[in-house]
Amino acid sequence: MEEVTGAQLIAEALKAQNVEYVFGIVGVPIIEVAMAAQAAGIKYVGMRNEQAACYAASAVGYLTGRPAVCLVVSGPGLIHALGGMANANMNCWPVIVIGGSADQNQETTGAFQEFPQVEACRLYSKFSARPGSLVMIPAVVEKAVRSCIYGRPGACYIDIPGDMVNARVDRKTIRFPSCCPPPPVSLASNHEISKAVTMLKQAQRPLLIIGKGAAYSRAENEIKELVEVSGLPFLPTPMGKGVLPDDHPNCVAAARSRALLQADVVVLLGARLNWILHFGFPPRFSPDMKLIQVDICAEELSNNVRATAALLGDVRAVVSQLVELLRLNTWLYPADTEWWTNLKEKMASNARISKALSLQNTLPMNYYTAFYHIAELLPKDCVIVSEGANTMDIGRTMLLNYLPRRRLDAGTFGTMGVGLGFAIAAAVLEKAQQTGRRVVCVEGDSAFGFSGMEVETMCRYKLPIIIIVINNNGIYSGVNTETWKEMEKMGDMTTM
Ligand code: ADP
Ligand code: MG
Repeated sequence: MEEVTGAQLIAEALKAQNVEYVFGIVGVPIIEVAMAAQAAGIKYVGMRNEQAACYAASAVGYLTGRPAVCLVVSGPGLIHALGGMANANMNCWPVIVIGGSADQNQETTGAFQEFPQVEACRLYSKFSARPGSLVMIPAVVEKAVRSCIYGRPGACYIDIPGDMVNARVDRKTIRFPSCCPPPPVSLASNHEISKAVTMLKQAQRPLLIIGKGAAYSRAENEIKELVEVSGLPFLPTPMGKGVLPDDHPNCVAAARSRALLQADVVVLLGARLNWILHFGFPPRFSPDMKLIQVDICAEELSNNVRATAALLGDVRAVVSQLVELLRLNTWLYPADTEWWTNLKEKMASNARISKALSLQNTLPMNYYTAFYHIAELLPKDCVIVSEGANTMDIGRTMLLNYLPRRRLDAGTFGTMGVGLGFAIAAAVLEKAQQTGRRVVCVEGDSAFGFSGMEVETMCRYKLPIIIIVINNNGIYSGVNTETWKEMEKMGDMTTM
């Protein structure tokens, strides 16, 4: 009889589901899980804090469409990972967290690092479960993989009691479900597609908004076609940047506020009308704005603004549907409209302002000057990781993206401290594919501080990452000279 341990079952089940990366911190009771994962041919990356490990794992999910695992110990280990889970779930990025937990027969006794982990993870995930027995492990792993990538992507949690890790079972009693295929592709109804095309044809001031859902679904070719076929102006959200290059002639990012405010028909491609897009509300949007919304999540449709055309489906497939109908209609939004003139005027004047700021030679340097010179040195295909308050906001406009999924930032949850974990994930992937692409982290000083110890992880794995810290010596905008002197006098530098 051949026996397998719980640890081996987890590792082999992950391998069977094509999971390639585990990020984590080992300790009792999951040391054997990490070892079994490596034995199964899964790459294990040992990090310095579970939160950063979870950020890294979730970035792999976003960048590849296949989840990675964040492996943590019980109690505090799992609790540290919750920040990463929440961030992933808010961003709609797939990730699987696997947490060791107290032995089953010690539950409720005050066991070492005992915590109600399955319940704790419920708020931060789409699926949170503990396998009922060893034989259930492969099915639970498959369900976690499937749940995190099907429908709206998100986080999943699997709880493994310590005594399950080394328990053994006859291999003959185990059945491994086959590898879960990529999500089935869903299409919008023809009726809504026709409605959308009619709306576009009647629009005076149309605008496409490209979100990170479009980046995640790898809709770049389809969206490129849509822009070429329709001639529409587009605006990327922060992580939608690069789906089409920032220097594309139809990109109106430099006139963002005006484009949002004056558009009469907005086509929302995999982005939410949340705080990042000012909820779609006046005074940032026109009260008469009509919405064509594309999303994979039915519950998202009409959030904050009623969608006149609700295109429920995979953004990549739905954009193809739109392109097909637009082609049949041979309709093109003219390049000589008042709307285009208006947007181009604003872009030119904003470009003049940022150029003037960039060329100031004051000391200390302003953000624009710093970014202007950094941007000149960045290779076009590099991954840009960006976080911090002003560092990220101004970096968004000054550091251009030319390729999809090459910008990683604080995202929907506005999480600071994500940067180093994201950079590690990106560098691990680039290294595995031997692309030679650079990973560049542009960090505010306080954002860097949240996960600064992960620099050690980068060095230990010899990851070629460049970190640039924009140091304004403080959180948010820092303090002015007067205030600083006052604080120095009082000996109080604690708040910054
Ligand atoms: P951004 O930050 O760029 O505005 P959000 O994270 O707010 O992006 O929104 C992304 C949206 O994309 C979510 O509402 C999510 O449901 C949706 N989404 C994710 N994957 C797909 C997909 N394959 N097709 C369509 N929509 C998707
Ligand atoms: Mg700062």
